[in-house]
Amino acid sequence: MKLICPVCGKPLHNHEKSAVCPDRHTFDYSAGGYLNLALNKSDLHGDSKEMTAARTAFLNTGAYGPLRDEIVRIMEECAPETTVDLCCGEGYYTACLPGKEKYGIDLSKPALKYASRRDRGTLYILASAFRVPLEDHCADCILTCFAPVAEEEIKRLLRPGGTFIYVTGGPDHLFELKSLLYEHPYRNEETDPVRMLRLLDTKELTYPFRADHDALLNLFAMTPYAYRTGNEGKQRIAAADQLDITAQFTIRIYTGD
Ligand SMILES: [Zn+2]
Repeated sequence: MKLICPVCGKPLHNHEKSAVCPDRHTFDYSAGGYLNLALNKSDLHGDSKEMTAARTAFLNTGAYGPLRDEIVRIMEECAPETTVDLCCGEGYYTACLPGKEKYGIDLSKPALKYASRRDRGTLYILASAFRVPLEDHCADCILTCFAPVAEEEIKRLLRPGGTFIYVTGGPDHLFELKSLLYEHPYRNEETDPVRMLRLLDTKELTYPFRADHDALLNLFAMTPYAYRTGNEGKQRIAAADQLDITAQFTIRIYTGD
């Protein structure tokens, strides 16, 4: 176990249903099996139960299965022993990642509850991706998928020669959904936000998928558009039977040294 105490930074060890450090700071495993290492309740701004349910239902349609397969393929080339998924959500990608020791980090209790019940092969930890309770240089591979990139923490966590995989939406990602919602849909900007790691390769994955009415509503609920869309757009999406949509992902591969 490569966990460190979020209070004093010393190693954590399992003792009965808790993780305990030498200074006896004690953290409990939840009934579902994830470990709560978040110190402040005010830190807990992770995804809500509703958002988690919508994303889980959408991902379970398999629409992002090709992305998951591609991430797994890239990561398998690195043959990691220790794998970390930062902002892992309900563990859709995490559960399939290679690695003898796997950690999923997220700030959403509903998402981790689901993840830890479904996937016993990963230790899920309630903590911020910007303050990860894991030892320095412990990770062979780190993934961040559709979430802010915590560069300094990733650099601290990666072992020399380790790999960081960062997934964002490509320029045409979900363009048809945006065309339904907005009069003037825009394409996503393509910028590399990472400064502290060395970019090794960039891959683009593009394919079409068909979303039925329910999948469309769930997809809408899990995107940032849900907050930005006016009533007319919402009515159009509520009235749609199905939609053929472009999935386009940019997968950037970095190393820490
Ligand atoms: Zn401690």
